[in-house]
Amino acid sequence: MKIVRVETFLVPPRWLFCRIETDEGIVGWGEPVVEGRAEVVRAAVDVLAEYLIGQDPLRIQDHWQVLTKGGFYRGGPVLSSAVAGLDHALWDIAGKAYGAPVHALLGGPVRESVRVYAWVGGDEPARLAEDVTAQVEAGFTAVKMNGAGRTSAIPTPAETAAVVARVAAAREALGPERDVAVDFHGRFTAAGARRVLHELAPLHPLFVEEPLLPEQGHLLGGLVDASRVPIATGERLYGRAEFLPALTAGVAVAQPDLSHAGGITEVTRIAALAETYGAQLAPHCPLGPISLAASLQVAFCTPNFLIQEQSRGIHYNKDADLLSYLVDTEPFRFVDGQAPRTGLPGLGITVDEDAVRAADRTGHAWRNPVWRHADGSFAEW
Ligand SMILES: [Mg+2]
Repeated sequence: MKIVRVETFLVPPRWLFCRIETDEGIVGWGEPVVEGRAEVVRAAVDVLAEYLIGQDPLRIQDHWQVLTKGGFYRGGPVLSSAVAGLDHALWDIAGKAYGAPVHALLGGPVRESVRVYAWVGGDEPARLAEDVTAQVEAGFTAVKMNGAGRTSAIPTPAETAAVVARVAAAREALGPERDVAVDFHGRFTAAGARRVLHELAPLHPLFVEEPLLPEQGHLLGGLVDASRVPIATGERLYGRAEFLPALTAGVAVAQPDLSHAGGITEVTRIAALAETYGAQLAPHCPLGPISLAASLQVAFCTPNFLIQEQSRGIHYNKDADLLSYLVDTEPFRFVDGQAPRTGLPGLGITVDEDAVRAADRTGHAWRNPVWRHADGSFAEW
């Protein structure tokens, strides 16, 4: 079997898909994207595809080596995301060629369903209690929310109190049997995070995510030691080597993104690395259906898996949502907040190719907002 064609599709709301076609008619799908930089990743996929044309798609490990290391300059979000999407598609092809789901090829299932959480609130959440109650009624046992919008370097008492009040409102709507995770989105300084984490601890969050920017990873250890709140990070880390310092610092939860951190091949390695530190895997996935399908395949066969993010109804999903490009939506029909294990081959989904091709004709130009503080200076989004 040989790869004969690699195509990319820029589809709303803010995604990029890739499709690898073989001379035996087997097709694989992937989702190589950096949110807000989709066109740049598309160009990177085009360059990497030059190598893949004519290759045997089943030599995934070898292709991963060449795609990540064969260009001398390596890593970073753009290249690692381009490799990630191609890696999804190669695993999808392998599963279809062997007639098995990807998780079966990776050692077989360790669980029959995967706990997923739902997002509540937007970037600056307001009607939180209502949103949480709606997700509880939909069956979810965990939600995630943003901790705050734009935030002062040293939070005022009012800013700190506002974060605590929102998380408290979520906790009250959830009760003690369900979980709330809180995303700080790298909007806090170390001093600010330390102050707010202390106040949040009594509300027992499942974890606090990205309390610091990735470039301040050297401060993570101090933060872990200063708080009893489990710390999560990883959506802006792109491989094992970048997870190692975070795991050494003692983070409780590793959050690689299947579309950013080198795909299924690298995230399974990150999971194994995390296991040696007693850390849990909770893949980041505010993205599309192929990225989620890849995440679920990893979750089905990863012992130290905790919970899966998914984007259904997320505030970013305008003009299209998680189910818009699927022929069969059953794999993402969550029951009691769980995604059922599927025995379907490959990634376990059937992409609606006509819908994808039509959407690509429209495309998108999604960019994240640029935030500023009241004095006009730049604020982290
Ligand atoms: Mg996040």
